[in-house]
Amino acid sequence: MAISIQENLTIVHASIEAASGAALGDDNTAPTLVAVSKRQPDDRIEASLAAGQRVFGENRVQEATERWGHRRAQYDDLILHLIGPLQTNKAGEAVALFDVIEVVDRPKLAKMLAAEMEKQGRRLPCYIQVNTGAEPQKAGILPADVDGFVAMCRDDYQLDIIGLMCIPPVDEEPAMHFALLREMARRNNLEKLSMGMSGDYEEAIAFGATSVRVGSAIFGARNEPGK
Ligand SMILES: *Cc1c(COP(=O)(O)O)cnc(C)c1O
Repeated sequence: MAISIQENLTIVHASIEAASGAALGDDNTAPTLVAVSKRQPDDRIEASLAAGQRVFGENRVQEATERWGHRRAQYDDLILHLIGPLQTNKAGEAVALFDVIEVVDRPKLAKMLAAEMEKQGRRLPCYIQVNTGAEPQKAGILPADVDGFVAMCRDDYQLDIIGLMCIPPVDEEPAMHFALLREMARRNNLEKLSMGMSGDYEEAIAFGATSVRVGSAIFGARNEPGK
């Protein structure tokens, strides 16, 4: 059965509006839909662009460059979010390609990003990624270190930190992680919350998500890693 990207986008947008209406009241603008295009075939990307989607999330710099580098000229209103772990030696490429960096998670990376943004004259909005479940295999700053790290990014590196991002543990109820992220953002005067994926974006919105990262609910199943 052919996947209708346009239909999926319509459904997801409607769910976002319904969830945010319930959470925020009608006078607020709906959360941003970041369409996660990693490991998706080109025809699906094209279909989403034809349907008007312009905000995309990618988790690898190399793959994102291949997918989006040539499309920049064609769509000058594209907004690309980096949502996957970033090695410091890729910071330059990431700053050149992306519009929003959601994965600032350690001092060395913050420093490299600041230096690259200065060098390239591109001061990008950034999120700090928080490892809310303190999972050893997962990227992100630990909850106990968030306040200090936010201050460091702002004061020492002059990064434009606009919010926090998290990926809750797969085997846990996400609500407590969303609530924790919201509380950490509130006490640090951060406005933006990037949380919620295909399986839980409506719940994330109920907890105040200002942007959701949705892949498979729009594009269908992804190719295997490395393909
Ligand atoms: C892949 C990915 C998503 C999208 O996941 P889906 O379940 O397909 O919506 C969201 N956020 C991050 C950080 C990802 O790596």
